[in-house]
Amino acid sequence: MSSTPSPGRLTVITGPSGVGKGTLVNLLLERHPAMWLSVSATTRAPRPGEEEGVQYFFMERPAFEQLVGRGGLLEWAEFAGNLYGTPRQPVEAQLAAGHPVLLEIELEGARQVRQSFPGAFQLFVAPPSFAELERRIRGRGTDSEEAIQRRLARARVELEAATEFDAVLVNSDLETALLKLEELMGLAVAG
Ligand code: ADP
Ligand code: 5GP
Repeated sequence: MSSTPSPGRLTVITGPSGVGKGTLVNLLLERHPAMWLSVSATTRAPRPGEEEGVQYFFMERPAFEQLVGRGGLLEWAEFAGNLYGTPRQPVEAQLAAGHPVLLEIELEGARQVRQSFPGAFQLFVAPPSFAELERRIRGRGTDSEEAIQRRLARARVELEAATEFDAVLVNSDLETALLKLEELMGLAVAG
């Protein structure tokens, strides 16, 4: 029944595009409503069904760059031709209020957070195989062929960095991976 998320703890979830990070995080949030997921800013165009302020804050490049200039982002990086970043203020406010905070970000951003929040728990989600990763990206059906190729090229680099993380979670069977994620985060559901 009751879960025990660590108060005020920051968790970073990284892994190649298409590995299932978003799917796992959504399931985790359903089961642990006290967790707070940071909504990132991005210059990427919304995918069908994505809403402003829900999946992302969508913005043009000059507005994003202004935000960087003002120190408004905790971390930011370029990924597959677009900029992505974590708004600083809401994360700091949630942590100060003692809420467990999740960031779902790519490798360069995770490295920045490792410097600024050395106490954060850093998790890498890996696919069972590269072929399965490609199947999932294509199966999602949201990206152009060019975007898929850029994401696959970047995935090879990200996979090599898995050993930098506190833990690696292989997302083979979804339900098994979710239970393992809860265990790694100390969120085992009692009863
Ligand atoms: P990411 O957020 O890492 O880019 P998504 O959560 O969008 O990845 O998942 C990519 C695709 O893979 C989606 O179509 C999703 O339904 C599917 N998927 C996620 N986890 C699994 C799994 N364990 N087994 C099979 N398919 C999965
Ligand atoms: P997508 O375009 O598929 O939504 O996201 C592409 C990549 O950007 C994913 O690896 C995702 O984790 C990452 N990402 C999303 N938001 C942020 C962010 O705020 N900062 C960084 N560094 N990466 C992010």
